[in-house]
This record gives sequence, C-alpha cells and structure tokens, in this order.
Amino acid sequence: MSAVVAELVTEEEAIAEAIKTIDDAFIMHTYNRQPVLFERGQGAWLFDSDGKKYLDFLGGIAVNGVGHCHPKVVAAIQTQAAELIHISNLYYSAPQAKLAEKLCLTSDFEKVFFGNSGAEANEAALKIARKYGRSMSENKTGFVTAHRSFHGRTMATVTATAQPKYQEPFRPLIPGFEYVDFNDIDALKAAVNADTCAVLLEPIQGEGGVYAASKEYLEAAREICDDNNALLIFDEVQTGMGRTGHWWAYQGFGVVPDVMTSAKALGGGLPIGACLARGVAAETLVPGNHGSTFGGNLVAAAAALAVFDVIESENLLTNAEVVGRYFSEQLREGLGDALTEVRGQGLIVGAQLARPIAGHVLTESMKKGLILNAVGDSTLRFLPPLIIKKEDVDSAISILKEVIS
Ligand SMILES: *Cc1c(COP(=O)(O)O)cnc(C)c1O
Repeated sequence: MSAVVAELVTEEEAIAEAIKTIDDAFIMHTYNRQPVLFERGQGAWLFDSDGKKYLDFLGGIAVNGVGHCHPKVVAAIQTQAAELIHISNLYYSAPQAKLAEKLCLTSDFEKVFFGNSGAEANEAALKIARKYGRSMSENKTGFVTAHRSFHGRTMATVTATAQPKYQEPFRPLIPGFEYVDFNDIDALKAAVNADTCAVLLEPIQGEGGVYAASKEYLEAAREICDDNNALLIFDEVQTGMGRTGHWWAYQGFGVVPDVMTSAKALGGGLPIGACLARGVAAETLVPGNHGSTFGGNLVAAAAALAVFDVIESENLLTNAEVVGRYFSEQLREGLGDALTEVRGQGLIVGAQLARPIAGHVLTESMKKGLILNAVGDSTLRFLPPLIIKKEDVDSAISILKEVIS
C-alpha cells in the first residue's frame, strides 16, 4: 500500500486491508468472505477491527451456542491446555471419558466415537451402518437420505448431502445412496428395503433452509427402519446441544434413532464431533475398524464439558425455547407481509422473504451491526447463541425492520 493511500485510512483499516490481501493471496477461495475483520467476541457480541460492535445472530454457524468466549469455556481451555493438550487415542483421557458419559446421560445413547467435525461424525455413522448391514448380508449396504439435506463435505457425506450444487463437481460419488423428498412418508417407504443399511435424516434441515420434519414422518421413519432391519441415523450436528430447547432435537419429536451425530456447538468453538449409538450399533465398531488421531482431543473435550456445564447452570434449554418462541413471534408480527413464513424451533429459525432480497438483507444488516445468514435468495437463517435475551431479539427485529422496509 502506498504512503498516500495509507494516510487516507486509519491504521486499523490499513491492517484489515493487509490481512484481506494476504488472505486472498494464500487461502483457497472456498468461501466468499464478508468484508469484515473480527477481533474480539463477548457473549452475543462481536467487535471488528474498527471497534464496531455486531449482534451475532449466526453464532459461527450454530457453533457459539454459549456465546463468544464464555469465561467458563475459556477457563476450561486454559486449564487443560496448561496440563496436557494431546496424547492420542492410544491412552485413556479423563476429559474424553467424562464427555462421553455426559453425552450419553443427556440422551438415549450408550457409546460414543469422537472425531473433529460434523462430517467426521457422520462418516463414523455411515461406517457403522455399512458394517452393521454387511454383517447381515453382503448386499445390505444402501443408504437413504433426503433432498435438501446437508451432512458435510467429505466424499461420503457430500454423497449423503442430496443437493446437486455440492455434488456435481465431485462425481463419481460413493455408490449406494438413494434420495427421497423430505417429509414424504410414502417415498421413504418405497425407497427402503432389505438392502438398506440406514436412513440418515436431519430432524430439522438446517443448511437447506430450516425445514422441520413432521412428528409423523420421523415416527414412520422409525417404523420403516425397524421393519427393514435398517438403522435410523439422525444428524444433529446443527440441531443438538440445546438449540431447539431440548438437549437433542429428537427428544422433542419423541422418536429415538439408533445413531446420532453431534458437532458444531459441542466444543464451544473448538473442533470436536461425536457419533453416538445404542444397541447393536453401539457395539458394531471394534479395534482397527475406525479411528481419528485428534478425535476427542483433551482440550476440545474439556471445552465441551464446560459447554454442558454452562447450558445446565444458566438454564439455556429453557432460554432457547422461550426466547426462540419470542423471536419467531416478533418476526411474524414485526415484519408482517415482508415474510411469507417463519420456520424452526427454539433458536434455529428460518424466515421466508416475500421477495428475493436475502443477499441485500444480509449486507445491510451487517452494516447496521446484525449478523445473520442467507440461504439462497429468499431465506434468512438465524442461529444465535442460546444465551440471547429478549432485548437482543428486539434489537435484531428493529434492524431487520429498517433493512427490509
Ligand atoms: C454443519 C453440518 C455438518 C457438517 O459439519 P462440519 O463440521 O462442517 O463437517 C453436517 N451436518 C449438519 C446437519 C450440519 O449442519
């Protein structure tokens, strides 16, 4: 940057500009970045390099469930990092064992496998199902997943993700996957047969635009899987860890899968994923079948234990439910005809815009200090931390009103 230009901008702006230049030069262009450099976070707020503050209604894409830099999470990370960071899965680990126990105590599952992300948690689930199926018959290897789903970016999970835009560049995909329309019981019945090893579903499709399954659909899925000796897998990478007002979204539907995956909010911002299973599925993998060098890393596991502690001690399940309902109501009332539909449960909320202006809403909200997410041209997605209060909702609604009117 020339001295003349440097004089026209603040030092902070110059630094942010330099970071952007280095980023553009050296990082693969897999994301279109927003033009902002965040430097600090606290609770539901982020602060950029100019000191401007933003109310975070995206929460690092459903990751910052207990907000940014929660003191208990920070302390857990600092303490564990000073004691022991990594030992590999060849040895026992106190934080990992305690976290596995906590995951099982808050759910209906019996055993946990740890990876580092949502995709890895789903890979583990798919491998459990394949091995489970093949133990019965060589041909019992088929998966059924839903259109508009999202399960990750690895080869198997992108194959499970029934959205052509994510799949096309990477064909040929993994064989054995079939796709059905979400919430269509007859289609599921027709697709599942003796050669199906598992049905994989999100109880609420998140990335696809916040579409909840009906209770009847998940009940039917349970029955169809049972009739065909197939495993029912729920991907709760986005819906779990209290987001819907339950620890796990399936608990709100009253339908228990055989396998469930978690990641995103689990580690309070540190990378960790978990695949939980019960019954035969919990005993399917044996030594040598599967592994992960970093999976269940001590620092990430310690952070996750702190996240559980915060959700319990701050009553965040109730808060997610109460403030989530208030948010949905305020969206309906406050934005009126600008929205055709408000979907979701707790603090996973989707708003369907009457006009295709989602990109504009995102950009203008950002300028006014509100962070949200756009799915396509006409859907807004909100995944705020579970700690938000009604006042935060009021602030967000007033910005959205200004931007959309
Ligand atoms: C984000 C997400 C994933 C992928 O998680 P990564 O950590 O990005 O691999 C999988 N499933 C669902 C439902 C998700 O929302």
